[in-house]
This record gives sequence, C-alpha cells and structure tokens, in this order.
Amino acid sequence: MERFLGQVVIVTGAAGGIGRATAELFASEGAQVAVCDLNGKELAAWVAAHPQKERFADYTVDVIKPAAVQAMVDDVARRFGRIDVLVNNAGIEDTDSVTETSEERWDRQITVNTKSVFLCSKYAIPYMQKQSKGAIVNMGSIEGVVAEPNGAAYVASKGAVVMLTKEMALSYARDQIRVNVVCPGWIDTAMARRSIDKHGGLEAMLPEIRRLQPLGRLGTPQEVGRAIMFLASDDASFITGNVLMVDGGYTAQ
Ligand code: NAD
Repeated sequence: MERFLGQVVIVTGAAGGIGRATAELFASEGAQVAVCDLNGKELAAWVAAHPQKERFADYTVDVIKPAAVQAMVDDVARRFGRIDVLVNNAGIEDTDSVTETSEERWDRQITVNTKSVFLCSKYAIPYMQKQSKGAIVNMGSIEGVVAEPNGAAYVASKGAVVMLTKEMALSYARDQIRVNVVCPGWIDTAMARRSIDKHGGLEAMLPEIRRLQPLGRLGTPQEVGRAIMFLASDDASFITGNVLMVDGGYTAQ
C-alpha cells in the first residue's frame, strides 16, 4: 500500500528513535521525506546507507532557529514542489521539579519542545494553504495529559503542545489543514532508555512499566510512527484537533 505516493513529508528530530522510524514508514508508503535534526551527521549517514535513500532529503537544522527552519521549509517546497505533511517530532526531556530546575534549563526545555512546533508550522502552513490541503502531526506525550512528579518543564511543554494543536486545528480548518497530536507512553528509544537507566535499568523497571502501561511493555517507535501516519493520511480525513494516545493503556487507569 502506498498511501503517500507523490506526497512530500517533513519529519523533525529524525535522527532519533521515533522520528527515524516515522520517516522510514512514510518513505515505505511512497512519500518523499525531508528529514531534519540537530544531529545532521548521524542523519546523513543513516540516509546514505538506506536502501530507499532516493526517497529522503536530509537537513541539519536546529528547529528553534527561525532562519534555519524557514530555509529548510522553503528548500523542501522548491525542490519537491509542495508540502503535504509536517511531523513536529523533535524534542528533549529534561526532568526535574520546579525548585530543582534552573531558569536556563526551563527555557531550553520549553523552547525546544514548543517553539519548534510554532516555527516549523509557521513556515510550512503557507504552502499548505496554497494547496488547500495539509496535515500536521505534533508530538505530545502522556505527560501532556497527565502529570508526573519531577517533570515540571517537560510536562508544561507537552501540555502546551496539546493545546497548541487544538488552536491550530481551529485556525486552519477552513484551509483544509488538519492538525492532530499523538501522545505516546513509554517508547523504546534513547530518550526513554536514559530515564530507565537512571532508575536502575529495564529489568528493575519492568514491574513498574507493567503497572503503568497495562499492555505490559515499552511501545516501539514504529507503533508511534503508524499512529502518526494514520493521522496524516486520508484515512483520517475528518479528524482534526484530536489527541491520540499511543500509550498501551497508560492513561486509561
Ligand atoms: P530521541 O532522543 O531518540 O529523538 C529526539 C531527536 O530530536 C534527536 O535526534 C535530537 O537530536 C532531536 N532534536 C532535539 N532537539 C533538537 C533541535 N533543537 N533541533 C533539531 N532536532 C532536535 O527521542 P524520541 O523518544 O525519539 O523522541 C521523539 C519525540 O517523542 C520527542 O518530542 C519526545 O518528547 C516524544 N516522546 C517520547 C517518548 C518516549 O518514551 N520515547 C514518549 C512520549 C513522547
């Protein structure tokens, strides 16, 4: 099935676990995928070694830098003629309580996870408006919906992404641009592993993971990628402003 044949997709944070898996899934269904990351070296090496490398264009971009974001978006539109899908996936997780979080860490966490969504959308939406068609999928988290202790800035940033998604869905509905957000639970990527390692490793954490995520395991990056693709596809043509939990039941309890 090639649901995205002829479509142009941008995925941010594509050197990481969920971004890479998502980019690969879009390419496997026919899309031309512009992938970007701060870590452009690793991304370029991955693209160069990929069996479908002609389906990717890689960019080294810091998604909180307006000029760099605009240059990438304009270049994608110039090279490939359109922008159908934007996946605002890039993010960082720096967790601590309010009293333990420095102002600098607060600013960086909030900026990377929220301003990135604002900037990439700001420059991509005008191309979607010209087409009267587009889909944006933002990266939230269970922590955008339920809080955890010692995650002040991360929880605040993901809550902001959930609400920004709803605002954008309303602002651009008349342009036939749909905007949705996926909220993953614990997914097996470098980000989750860092926090699992801090708590004694996967073996030690398994009982807790089983308690929190009733399906009893970490999710895979591909499981999140497939949810993103669904929201970006015509299968979701009447879905906008939606919060899709991809969390193994975490928030059902
Ligand atoms: P990851 O660390 O493997 O990937 C994140 C990627 O974003 C990295 O490649 C990093 O270089 C890139 N990035 C960070 N700041 C950037 C910037 N300023 N400009 C460009 N690229 C930047 O982590 P992941 O688990 O794949 O996370 C992807 C997204 O999913 C994040 O937004 C994260 O908050 C969210 N998320 C992850 C989990 C999980 O359990 N892994 C759960 C919920 C939500």
